[in-house]
Amino acid sequence: MDKEKSQRHGKLFLILGPSGSGKGTVLRYLREKYPNAVFPLSCTTRQPREGEKEGEVYLFVSKSEFKERIAHGDFLEYAIVHGDNYYGTLKESIMKPLQEGKIVIREVDVQGLRSIRELMPDNQLISIFLTVDSWDTLKKRIIARAEISSEELERRRQSFLLEMEWADEVDYVVVNQDGKIEDTFSQLDLILEEAQ
Ligand code: 5GP
Repeated sequence: MDKEKSQRHGKLFLILGPSGSGKGTVLRYLREKYPNAVFPLSCTTRQPREGEKEGEVYLFVSKSEFKERIAHGDFLEYAIVHGDNYYGTLKESIMKPLQEGKIVIREVDVQGLRSIRELMPDNQLISIFLTVDSWDTLKKRIIARAEISSEELERRRQSFLLEMEWADEVDYVVVNQDGKIEDTFSQLDLILEEAQ
């Protein structure tokens, strides 16, 4: 895709962060606070978790449907995340609102950020890394959220250590401290306001 710098005026905010860093909470807050912003769905081949509904954050599809969509050119980018499942941002649902000058907010992993950075002018893309102060904090949150085996917990720890390095690649780092969610929200408000 060309970098049609002059034609697109919207802004794309990409939110990255280890699982358990609070991306879900932050995205729920942003949806409420910025009703005019667009929160595009992505496709994933992973199974829905308890309480997750089709069409809220993801379209849950089979691997064969995902591959058909790749062939069809539906994705702005796609990646295999955590070694086994495909995730992909839908081109139309991001590019169209951007061309209309809207704010678009989506969570992706670092592969998604790297791919999208190649497609988008720098002044249209803002990346935010949401994180926690330590593995212990994250571990407490992961354990509180759902039952998890010790092998899976170790896999998450390894991912967390790798994901902390994402901080070097983003525009903003926001540390979501325990019990200070309001501070996190204020920091995000400042980032969004500054970018507009
Ligand atoms: P989860 O399965 O916990 O919802 O997400 C796993 C990881 O995939 C997270 O890092 C999340 O941000 C990332 N992710 C979600 N949607 C997309 C997407 O469309 N593209 C890419 N590259 N990553 C995504």
